[in-house]
Order: sequence, then C-alpha cells, then structure tokens
Amino acid sequence: MRSLTTDLEALGAQEVLAHAVEEHHPRMALACSFQKEEAVLVHMLLGLAPEARVFTIDTGVLFPETYATWRELEQRTGVEVEVIDALSRDGRPWGAERCCGQRKVAALEAMLGGLDAWVTGLRREQSPTRAAAPKLGWDERHGLWKVSPLADWTEDRVWEYLNEHDLPYNPLHDRGYASIGCAPCTLPGSGREGRWAGQDKTECGLHSP
Ligand code: SF4
Repeated sequence: MRSLTTDLEALGAQEVLAHAVEEHHPRMALACSFQKEEAVLVHMLLGLAPEARVFTIDTGVLFPETYATWRELEQRTGVEVEVIDALSRDGRPWGAERCCGQRKVAALEAMLGGLDAWVTGLRREQSPTRAAAPKLGWDERHGLWKVSPLADWTEDRVWEYLNEHDLPYNPLHDRGYASIGCAPCTLPGSGREGRWAGQDKTECGLHSP
C-alpha cells in the first residue's frame, strides 16, 4: 500500500498545502524568514485559509532590508506574522553555534511545541543537505509533521510565481545574496554559500534531522 507521504510527492505545491490545511489548521504554521520561497507560500496559504498562521523568529540582527520586506509582505498580503522574539531569550551577543542554538533553535522549539505540523520553504536544489527533503515527512526531532510544498521547485519557478503575483522579495537578492539570514552571518553568494561563510556550518539547526 502506498503511503500518504509517497502520494503527496506527485501533487503540486498548492495541493500539498491544501491537504495540510485540511488536516492540521489551525494547529499548523508556516515558518517565515522572508525568503522569496516564503512569499510564495504566504500567498498560497492565505488563498486557501485567510486566517492561516505564519510565524517568524526575530533574532534582532536581521538586515534592515529583511525588516522592510517583512512590512511589505504584511501590507501586500494582509498576513499578520506571529513574532517569536529570540533576542530576549538569552540576551547574548551574536556568533556561532551557541547563538543559533540558543536563539533560533530554542525559539523554534517553543513555537513547534504547540503545533501538529509546520510548513517550510525548503527546496531540494538549495543544498546537498536538502536534496532529499520530502514534501511531507515526520519531523522526528520536533515530533510533528513537516510540510515542504516547494521541495521540487526550481529557483526559476519561484521567481516566476513572485512576478506573476507581484509579490515582494528581499532587495538583497539583487545584490548577490541568494540566501538571507542574520546580518552578522550572511555574505553575498549563490545557493547557501553566503551563510556562515568560512565556518563548517551550512544550517542554523532549524532543519537539522
Ligand atoms: S545566524 Fe548568526 S546571528 Fe543569527 S542566530 Fe545564528 S549565529 Fe546568531
């Protein structure tokens, strides 16, 4: 017998999201760091459920352009982003594993504790560590479903969708940043090479198994 996770692999992003909304809303939320993929998902999700939940982790050291993109996305789509203030969780200065772990990961775990499913903008082509990301999978580490409707989307498909629906995106993309995280830890670069450049680190820990 085929499993649900296998069946969903054949579906498009909107159908995967529709399934997730039907099964899990309102105990489901989209994790948003204002990457272009998440603008796509906010737009799709609100089309399916206008009261759908979207949250972000604010480390307090995001780029000014990211905060501007956040405001613009709220204005353009009407989404009200739930904010998890990671800065006040430890008050430490930024830097390396301890900062990501104690800020981002602890904040995420606090949020996910109240959910049955979370939605992410992961795409397989973003990095080797994401190459096998399923559209629907059980997140063993956090104990809930993880939904990645854009897992098989190409970068071009994301840009097409943004242009087609006139959605805002972070202007840092036009200055050579492919993936945008906290300002102290992000440099320009393709793929995720600009994240923690010079360190043996490619993920902040939010998507580690
Ligand atoms: S990306 Fe950098 S500044 Fe942001 S939480 Fe991780 S270590 Fe801290």
